[in-house]
Amino acid sequence: MRRPRGDIIGYVAREDVGQNRRKEPRDVPVTPFHGGVGLLTKGWLGRRFSFISFCATQVVIDCESGYYLLRDEWPFHRFLHTLLGAAVACTVVALVFRFAGTALDPQVSIPSSLRACIRADLAAAATGQALILTIVGGVLAHLIPDAIMHSDVRLFAPLSDANPLYGLVPLAALHWSLILAGVVGTVLVVRNIRRTGEA
Ligand SMILES: [Zn+2]
Repeated sequence: MRRPRGDIIGYVAREDVGQNRRKEPRDVPVTPFHGGVGLLTKGWLGRRFSFISFCATQVVIDCESGYYLLRDEWPFHRFLHTLLGAAVACTVVALVFRFAGTALDPQVSIPSSLRACIRADLAAAATGQALILTIVGGVLAHLIPDAIMHSDVRLFAPLSDANPLYGLVPLAALHWSLILAGVVGTVLVVRNIRRTGEA
């Protein structure tokens, strides 16, 4: 199915919905926006949460929309943008990072540096708590903003094609809230690094 054509104000009209044609946001993956929630969670939970593992879940999920966007095939958001699909993707990613994290001992004293922060963050992925947080956080932090922004997200598929969150919050408010989460999270992470020498 061909992608709807855009107009000069940055919105696209769906041409495949007949009389129900409507305007919706230009559909592109905005993976970096999801990182704001991850930063905020990292700043809040520190060693109990792996930011890198979380980011990996967001990238994996948006590989789907990026793939269909490149192929110009609507809908761009399919299985991985359902609760079921995102849960599967996040679980696989979290398990991979947990396995990788077990190779790193979080108790080893390490110097304060970017490399040490990355090492400590990966080591955090090894805990059961981080595993659950990555799965739950990865699913919700990705699907809620995407469902608000994109009409083709089907949270409850295959049970339902409905998207009750679409348009629930103005896009500007959604984007600025994610940016604000990222700024606050960054401040918290930097504070944690200064206190403990690691994120
Ligand atoms: Zn997405």
